[in-house]
Amino acid sequence: MTDVASSPAVYHVLLYYHFVPIDDPEGFSAEHRQLCEQLGLRGRILVASNGLNGTVSGPVDACSAYMRSLQADPRFSDMPFKVDVVPGHVFQKLFVRVKSELVTFRTDHQLDPRRRTGRHLSPQDYHAMLQREGVVILDGRTDYEFDLGHFRGAIRPEVASFREFPDWIREHMADLKDRPILTYCTGGIRCELLTAFMLEEGFTDVYQLDGGIVTYGKDPEVKGALWDGKCYVFDERIAVDINHTDDRQVVGRCHHCGAPTERYVNCANLDCHRQHLSCEPCEERMARSCSAECMEAPRHEILVQE
Ligand SMILES: [Zn+2]
Ligand SMILES: [Zn+2]
Repeated sequence: MTDVASSPAVYHVLLYYHFVPIDDPEGFSAEHRQLCEQLGLRGRILVASNGLNGTVSGPVDACSAYMRSLQADPRFSDMPFKVDVVPGHVFQKLFVRVKSELVTFRTDHQLDPRRRTGRHLSPQDYHAMLQREGVVILDGRTDYEFDLGHFRGAIRPEVASFREFPDWIREHMADLKDRPILTYCTGGIRCELLTAFMLEEGFTDVYQLDGGIVTYGKDPEVKGALWDGKCYVFDERIAVDINHTDDRQVVGRCHHCGAPTERYVNCANLDCHRQHLSCEPCEERMARSCSAECMEAPRHEILVQE
């Protein structure tokens, strides 16, 4: 028997999305917010006429009640949840927002992943494909997410936000249309759009990692193999482990000196606050500033008191 009183609080983080028509996003959102508030959940939830996308944290019982509630709704009965164990909340607040599209992705194509999208591969099949000759591995996230960790051999897209992908792909991948393309992203939702776009653009052999990187890292068979570094996540943890094999490399590099590091810090200039990778000596030397200019800034939270 475990002593419940002395064991640390057990919380869960849930990550989920589902493309399904929601007729009244405003009404759905208001009800949904109420449910989350009652359960004491925190996080970010997006509601659109074409689906639901969210990540929340809360006590285990509350998260279970939330999943049961959604699964009782026929629209979400088959929506998969990725579940992580954490010691406490990983969000400060609850945000439930209505958006016109679930994922912002500027393109002239009408994309509907429920109708046409890249083929979903299980972690095992994806792991096998990663090692096949001639495949192109495309990271479906932004450049700073790539820099903390990625699949070995993947292309680093030079995009600072997801909506920049269409232009980037047209400029940099036009000669790869007949190659097998493997895409991946954190939880899977971005690849639904990305691969749908690539098919519309004439790519012929496009695959996406089902359930995203976080699911791949939990798979008992592949154990995150061929992933290097960590996976960037959009909550207070910032980075999570994916590769649980012995064959894992650190790929993050200090923004200042280039030394291997997986430490993200926020710039101490309050008017910048830019998140950047920094080794410990550089953090001290730079007073946790991302640049020499920020070190001189009037609203520097470390230096200004001196
Ligand atoms: Zn450094
Ligand atoms: Zn800065």
